[in-house]
Amino acid sequence: MSTNTHYIDGRFVEDRISGRIAVYNPASEEQIAEIPDGPAEVVDAAVDAARKAQPAWSELPPIERAGYVKAIAEKIRAKVDILAETISREQGKVVSLARGEVLGMAGLMDYMAEWARRIEGEIIASDRKGETIYLNRVPIGVVAGILPWNFPFYLIGRKLAPALVAGNTIVIKPSEETPLNAFLFAELADEVGLPKGVFNMVSGRGRTTGAALSGHPGIDLVSFTGSVPTGVAIMEAAAKNLTRVNLELGGKAPAIVLKDADLDLAVEAITASRVINTGQVCNCAERIFVERQVADEFTDRFVKRMAAVTYGDPIAEPTVDMGPLVNALQLDKVEAMVERAREAGASVALGGKRAERNCGHHYEPTVLTGCTPDMEIMRKEIFGPVAPIAVVEDADDAVHYANDTEYGLTSEAVHYSNDTEYGLTSSLYTQDLNKAMRVTRRLQFGETYINRENGEAYQGFHAGRKKSGIGGADGKHGFYEYMETQAVYIQHG
Ligand code: NAD
Repeated sequence: MSTNTHYIDGRFVEDRISGRIAVYNPASEEQIAEIPDGPAEVVDAAVDAARKAQPAWSELPPIERAGYVKAIAEKIRAKVDILAETISREQGKVVSLARGEVLGMAGLMDYMAEWARRIEGEIIASDRKGETIYLNRVPIGVVAGILPWNFPFYLIGRKLAPALVAGNTIVIKPSEETPLNAFLFAELADEVGLPKGVFNMVSGRGRTTGAALSGHPGIDLVSFTGSVPTGVAIMEAAAKNLTRVNLELGGKAPAIVLKDADLDLAVEAITASRVINTGQVCNCAERIFVERQVADEFTDRFVKRMAAVTYGDPIAEPTVDMGPLVNALQLDKVEAMVERAREAGASVALGGKRAERNCGHHYEPTVLTGCTPDMEIMRKEIFGPVAPIAVVEDADDAVHYANDTEYGLTSEAVHYSNDTEYGLTSSLYTQDLNKAMRVTRRLQFGETYINRENGEAYQGFHAGRKKSGIGGADGKHGFYEYMETQAVYIQHG
């Protein structure tokens, strides 16, 4: 049987009841697979299996649970070529980046496995004679991991590894845009002999499988990465059961270039942070604020650097810097946003149009100048290789606009209901340490990168403020998002 199907209770299940979803290669536009759109019955079976498996799994010593996670990481490394090619074929990222995603994910699994010997509680002095109070960390139960398409493989590990090491079981739902790498993952998880039901995967669309999973009463934590509107829908569905949520949502990362910045470094780092994965990364540099004194020089150099960015079919032309956008919808969205920016007064300094090629959802590397902070292109997530630049008078101006993705809206009602008030990542380029520290304190973002490209580390904490999310991932704090605290009071002699 094809393994392009749900993995439930330790086996790939034959599915004769689901509708089908076609999967396409965004570079060739050819259909490459078909997958099931799992209905509520399939989700029920997966959640039941996870619930049954959880008590015995949580009783294993953490180091044994971590052993399975490390074994899967080993298998992943051995299959890096096929995994990277699969990701590239269904998502469109260049193969070198896909390899980085696969190996990075295996490294993250190893890192999270190290937490097995570091789970700690606390002993607290009591007000009563002969009493000991302690706080114990315990698993939450059954986790649902709902994934996006942009780093589909990495996100499996980011949710599964901490969940399993902490003693939870999990049901994963990959994005219907990029499911094939997840089926390969399930094969590897199967090979290491994980106890049945500890890891389950259901295939399907968001509005069917995803909605059934996030509103399921048997789920104790929904860990979701994706867009803001879907985050809201998931929180609503989870609220019915008072299920807790961990939400990693969209971003609109500002890159601030001050007059004393190392411009060579800023140009390189912002280009890298804008074109990686064809601009489809939550922490990508989405808008640039440059101080007036260096605006012309920075813009000249940046346009030249962006003009050297190459694109094409990542498999047929393996040396290109960027692949296509993930699908036709995303290409239309980017094209329309640039058009509206032009109508609002922005100038196209580079690109500004879809690529003239026979096939593939390609958009040219694009730089827009003369942007103002109130323009849609400076406020809403683009998710494409488009860099809008606005000139600011000083660092205060930059911080003000960076923090306010709503700038220009006068009605408070609109301000508070709009879904673009992002607070995920930000970056700053200056050689003045005092200024860097002052500006960073005032930036209302979960992450700030100073004088370097955007990109998080295993041991950091990746978390969005405002509408970019609730909770976070990675490091100690990300690990403990998968545990809860039990307080124990022992009265003794
Ligand atoms: P998306 O929200 O469209 O879909 C994400 C997942 O949610 C998919 O698996 C989809 O099937 C599912 N889904 C859709 N509707 C659902 C519903 N009603 N109920 C339950 N599940 C549902 O996001 P996407 O387009 O796949 O990913 C791009 C977005 O993800 C961007 O906004 C990006 O910034 C964000 N993202 C954030 C991070 C982060 O760490 N903060 C990382 C990667 C991507």
